[in-house]
Parts: sequence; structure tokens; C-alpha cells
Amino acid sequence: MAVKTPPKSRKPSVKIVRVHADESVCDHRMKPNGGPQPGSGCPGASGYVARCGCGCGWKNAQPIRAIVEEKRSTYLGSHPHEYAVRYTDEAGDTVYAYNPEMASRFGRSDAWLRTGELRLWQEDRLIEADAALVRRRPGTVEWEIDPEWQKDQDTYAALAGKVEAAFEAGDQEALAAARAELAAHAAKVHDRVRAATAQAGLR
Ligand SMILES: [Zn+2]
Ligand SMILES: [Zn+2]
Repeated sequence: MAVKTPPKSRKPSVKIVRVHADESVCDHRMKPNGGPQPGSGCPGASGYVARCGCGCGWKNAQPIRAIVEEKRSTYLGSHPHEYAVRYTDEAGDTVYAYNPEMASRFGRSDAWLRTGELRLWQEDRLIEADAALVRRRPGTVEWEIDPEWQKDQDTYAALAGKVEAAFEAGDQEALAAARAELAAHAAKVHDRVRAATAQAGLR
């Protein structure tokens, strides 16, 4: 019963560089007033660009360094999580559906949908359906269950409990109502995830 944890990804680190109007890096020497040194070949600096080096693709361009520094600290303070699906395979090992080469590791809704697909895969093989949406900050090792996903699971379990209770009590009216409530919840979650996926341009 091994746990196969994916390796740590690169820690977010945002570099700021001075750039020309065409976004090429300006490493020319500048005059104290910020203008180009005569004869340096510098067409003049247009501003500063910050780029995250973890692979998330974030960048921000500003005319003034102080502004780009502020954007950087805001971004690093709530850097996006990366997502995976944690599940038990046929050998009883805990594995992670996490392959940055196949899907964006920052794609939450895509991973969410994969959680459902992997649960069906588990059910087909008579494995307990435990696939869960997990997240972590880039540069860290440990994963945690996505809190919003967990909340939806808890709601689903509570509604399924109502269906079961009505069934056992033989109350047809309550059973129909509980089934409708369960279906409405599932549809709502599905629509929300689909919408987020479409927005991210993933499917
Ligand atoms: Zn320059
Ligand atoms: Zn990043």
C-alpha cells in the first residue's frame, strides 16, 4: 500500500526586469534621471515586467517599478494552487492523477471533472470510490482536500442519506422528493464545474 506522491514543483518566484517598448529586456546602463546613456544603443526603457517562474504563466507589466513590486507581492500572497486527483488504484496504492505534461496543473475544474471520471473507473473495478480533488501550493509537497469540493461531497452524502431513509421507511412521497433534491444538487454542481471549465477553455 504505497503512496506515490508527485515530486515537488517549482516554487513561485517572481522576477522583475526593465523592458523596452517591444518587451525585450533592457540591461543597458541608464543615466541617473532614467534616460538612456548616449551611445549605449538603448531605445529607451518603457517600463517593468514581472513574471512568475513556477510555470503558472502569470506576468504583469507596469510603467513604474514600485507598482510592479506591489502587484508581485499581492500575487505571491495568494498564488494559485495546483490540482490533482488522489485515488486508490487496483493494487491498493494511493496515486495521484497529476501530469503537468498532459493537463494544466492549475486547472481546477478539469481536475474536478477527472475526479468523477476516476470514481466511475474505480466503481467498474470494484474498488472503493475514493477519488478526491486535492490541491497544494507550488513548491510544497503535501496535498490537502479542496474545501469547496469536500463541501459538495458532504451535501451529496447528506441528501443520499435522505433518499435511503425514505426508501427504508417505504415513504414514496418522501423518496421522490429526496431523489429530486439529490438530482438538483448534482446538476447544480455539474453546471458550475462545466461553466468554469468552458471559461478556462479546457473543453
Ligand atoms: Zn535599454
Ligand atoms: Zn506561479
